[in-house]
Amino acid sequence: MSAKIPVGILGATGVVGQRFIQLLENHPWFEVAWLAASDRSEGREYAKAARWRLKTPIPQSVANMRVSPATPDGAPKVIFAALDASIAAEMEPRFATAGHAVITNSSALRMAKDVPLVIPEVNPDHIKLIECQPWRKKSGGFVVTNSNCSAMGLVLALAPLQKHFGLETVMAVTMQAVSGAGYPGVASLDILGNVIPYIAKEEEKMEEETQKLLGKLNGAGVIPAHFKMSAQCNRVAVEDGHTESISVKFSKKASPNVISDAWTSFRGVAQQKQLPSAPEIPVRYMDANDRPQPRFDVEFGRGMTTTVGRLRPCKVLDWKFTVLSHNTIRGAAGAALLNAELLKVEGYLD
Ligand code: NAP
Repeated sequence: MSAKIPVGILGATGVVGQRFIQLLENHPWFEVAWLAASDRSEGREYAKAARWRLKTPIPQSVANMRVSPATPDGAPKVIFAALDASIAAEMEPRFATAGHAVITNSSALRMAKDVPLVIPEVNPDHIKLIECQPWRKKSGGFVVTNSNCSAMGLVLALAPLQKHFGLETVMAVTMQAVSGAGYPGVASLDILGNVIPYIAKEEEKMEEETQKLLGKLNGAGVIPAHFKMSAQCNRVAVEDGHTESISVKFSKKASPNVISDAWTSFRGVAQQKQLPSAPEIPVRYMDANDRPQPRFDVEFGRGMTTTVGRLRPCKVLDWKFTVLSHNTIRGAAGAALLNAELLKVEGYLD
């Protein structure tokens, strides 16, 4: 058997960094070889630098690893990044310039014209934008992004609907988990028994990323999907899992059975190529009045499946339904890992 590909994690001590470490434990193709975070963590043993917040223990192979400085020297070629956008904006290009494959969660470069924003089940062809990047041409390095955690579940639910019925209007109202705000995130006094009707820049990201993801590759860029879209984002006192109430207007008439069939039959390249992190069922439809709920449904498909339910007519648009997606797995580390697996089978990590 060939050796595993060594990978590094930038922002390894944070909420998403920890998920990377958890999901990479026993991965068949990749193994964690390098960890980096801020000056606060640099030089310390990982187990001492990170406040581990997951329910599985820190993998032994990582616990005693020293946190490296966040610079390209000595870092492996493949880097998973989970940095705040302001830091990522400067650091990710630095790694790409030095020849690294940067697979990132940050919003810093998601909307750049030559940077692919990819969900393997939805728009795998967009990875070709890598070839337009100046880093790729000079050093072989590149940047690939995954979406914002609230856009992820929405786009997986919309992609089959767009294909079968066409989209004219999409309205989304989110109820987003506290783990989406990183660690320590929102103060307990602000969120317990409360709903916060504002998440900085989230509504804008959700709207523009959804249209880029569902858009068409056109040479050196993406033509955004053409439908009206409005998002309202709220933070709620849930640990993991973003729930979203969605209303849609289609270009073609549809019935509930064909809509639920469109979801349940939806498959993509991730399933066809049997990528190790791909869920068997990317979109699950639950025919129950009171589901999906984060407490019961968020872990389905190892946190990689988006669950949809409560499909019913909408008196303003055509149809309304509820979407649930795991924000730190499908909406962050799991999404980046799936992108890395797609890049590997497409030969970009050779
Ligand atoms: P977080 O818990 O606050 O973690 C931030 C990480 O960045 C920590 O490892 C931190 O290291 C490191 N860091 C901070 N300043 C740094 C610097 N100057 N140089 C190098 N490393 C530095 O945040 P998070 O929730 O993991 O989010 C990370 C990124 O993923 C963000 O861009 C976020 O928007 C995105 N994202 C998050 C989610 C989610 O559900 N949480 C979902 C999708 C996307 P120290 O521990 O040393 O400070």
